[in-house]
Amino acid sequence: MDNTHFEEILQFIRTLYPNENPVPLHAPRFLGREKEYLTQCIETTYVSYVGQFVTDFEEHIKKLTGAHYAVAIANGTAALHMTLLAAGVQPGNEVITQALTFVATAAGIKHALAEPVFIDVEAETLGMSPEALKAFLVENASYKNGATINKKTGKRIAAVVPMHTFGHPVRLEEISAICDEYGLMLIEDAAESLGSTYKGKHTGTWGRAGILSFNGNKPVTTGGGGMIISNDEALAEKARHLSTTAKRKHPWQFYHDEVGYNLRLPNINAAVGCAQMEYFDSTIKNKRETAEMYKAFFSNMNIPFFTEPQDCHSNYWLNVMFLNDREERDAFLEYSNANGIQTRPVWQLIPALPPYASCQCDPIPIAKDLEDRIVNIPSSVRIF
Ligand SMILES: *Cc1c(COP(=O)(O)O)cnc(C)c1O
Repeated sequence: MDNTHFEEILQFIRTLYPNENPVPLHAPRFLGREKEYLTQCIETTYVSYVGQFVTDFEEHIKKLTGAHYAVAIANGTAALHMTLLAAGVQPGNEVITQALTFVATAAGIKHALAEPVFIDVEAETLGMSPEALKAFLVENASYKNGATINKKTGKRIAAVVPMHTFGHPVRLEEISAICDEYGLMLIEDAAESLGSTYKGKHTGTWGRAGILSFNGNKPVTTGGGGMIISNDEALAEKARHLSTTAKRKHPWQFYHDEVGYNLRLPNINAAVGCAQMEYFDSTIKNKRETAEMYKAFFSNMNIPFFTEPQDCHSNYWLNVMFLNDREERDAFLEYSNANGIQTRPVWQLIPALPPYASCQCDPIPIAKDLEDRIVNIPSSVRIF
């Protein structure tokens, strides 16, 4: 493709976002009662860790996802860290995740002092390949004294953390069955997939626990924020305890029974989240309509555009177009960013980053191919 084609794409994107120049990749929108709720926090003085908005926000998320428990956390990375600790992942345990993800997935595993192990993704979902997971376990896992051991390292494999890339669910049924077969905990990084379901069930609720993010660029934002969702009461309680300084509940005494963390979500952040959740249905509707428009446009242009996988209902957090190779990708990134349309390549593969270079990594041909061809294009909620 040449610049004429590139320009045609930019023209179309400008019609989706006529009021923004440059057009951002994903800007937050505040279209409900955000200001009113923030004012309430200030007027009532409940700006910090005590306040109704935190509880209300957790209720919103429980209702949307169907999870029995929800624990608000300072951000998504910390939510993964707390989840792994609460689930009983021990220092030196191995946690299998995908090579193509945002760095927070791997960082959260490292924060729990566990060792990430990277496997490939599949082109159909952009997320963890069940076949790659199975193949890795067939080759490397042995079952000893009730634990799955990696024969090559002698370490226990404790959990599997798939990530729903750009809001598109992985094949959870298959991954969940493999986890059951090998006695591994399934913990979903659903940071990008609020509102996305697989076979009608919300992402993040298929395994022991899931984590969400409410960072500024996510479909719902609280400025910064995160959430743990789970049906396991003990896990949720443990995560809440750990993230709130490990203080035993008491009206005035300060008794802390282990080394805790201070990773609570402040009430002012939750206030923004509550307001955003009140119109989340229209947020998803708007994002799905944008994806439909992109789909029709790119189909005319004969350019591949990623659509939701089979059995999935996706939030289309960030839309994805595919170019032919790295050279064409870079040419388009240069051209679009120079001409007022913000676009991005996918994250560099995690095993290629210095802090993760020494981690175990399966062959990852699909992730490498996708890395060369994916371009994220503007995906904010369209406002009129
Ligand atoms: C956003 C994100 C997180 C969490 O990010 P925070 O900024 O810490 O809230 C984790 N994993 C993935 C895949 C993400 O995209």
